[in-house]
Amino acid sequence: MAVIIDGKALAKKIRQELKVECDELKSKGINPKLAVIMVGDNPASKVYVRNKSRACDEIGIEYEEYLLQDDIKQEDLINLIKKLNEDKTVNGILLQSPIPDHLNINQAFKTITYRKDVDGFTPSSVGKLCIGEDTFISCTPYGVMKMFEEYNIDLTGKNVVILGRSNIVGKPLIQCCLAKNATVTVCHSKTKNIEEYTKKADILISAIGKAKFVTKDMVKKDVVVIDVGINRNEDGKLVGDVDFEAVEPLASYITPVPGGVGPMTITMLMNNVIKAAKEQNDENTMF
Ligand code: NAP
Repeated sequence: MAVIIDGKALAKKIRQELKVECDELKSKGINPKLAVIMVGDNPASKVYVRNKSRACDEIGIEYEEYLLQDDIKQEDLINLIKKLNEDKTVNGILLQSPIPDHLNINQAFKTITYRKDVDGFTPSSVGKLCIGEDTFISCTPYGVMKMFEEYNIDLTGKNVVILGRSNIVGKPLIQCCLAKNATVTVCHSKTKNIEEYTKKADILISAIGKAKFVTKDMVKKDVVVIDVGINRNEDGKLVGDVDFEAVEPLASYITPVPGGVGPMTITMLMNNVIKAAKEQNDENTMF
């Protein structure tokens, strides 16, 4: 029987700590604020944005939302980001993806000043992560690393296999795991015989987006399994990438879906907003 890594409980604990930090900042006249930009009417984005707004409320972070029409010009989006960069009352800026195809999302991300890049998506943040400097770490990978820390899972010398190489999950996870002295292998849609890699994993992190992709035949005994995937199965139920029922008896630790990585993501966003507010008000910070 595996230990079930309880992301919900850990997220709750971290949010309580963040609320204390937020109250302390407020007592010094610092009011942490997150600005969220959403373009168009994507139903999934609306849910994500609502959840972020609720998490801000819970912790006491001010929340400001900019809902832009889906035919907005690139120039107007960039101008809004520049305005928020200059706004001293705003500590964190988040551009909710996806945005409509006519807009250049990379240029928009690049415009966000690294000091307010609470999603950790800008080239500055990504570059700093690569060279081991203090920075904002993308929220989902950061949440995964917090889970390892909480459950005393040491990555030193371990074979970590990551499934998925997206900019927001797979790639930052490579750097996070390397920084903890793991030996890291990354698999993606062009990887041949993926099970040859997964079977060697001491720690398997799946971020693909395919229900029941990881089966019991793909893992070794006592593997630690982190399931980042969020999918709907044929019954409309929320499931991860891992066939949980079949893999759990073999694993030493495993995250459930829901209740695993998901609650950690928004929590680490809140963590990054508090970090931003502290650093922007600390004249000694070199960050
Ligand atoms: P993404 O941008 O679509 O990337 C998916 C990655 O999986 C790509 O690198 C792709 O390879 C790889 N892949 C797809 N099919 C594969 C296959 N058959 N074999 C091996 N690799 C395959 O997705 P993402 O944004 O990283 O998200 C991944 C999953 O995590 C989704 O289910 C998403 O909903 C979930 N997610 C959860 C959270 C959370 O808070 N829990 C946060 C973010 C994302 P190529 O690069 O070769 O195309």
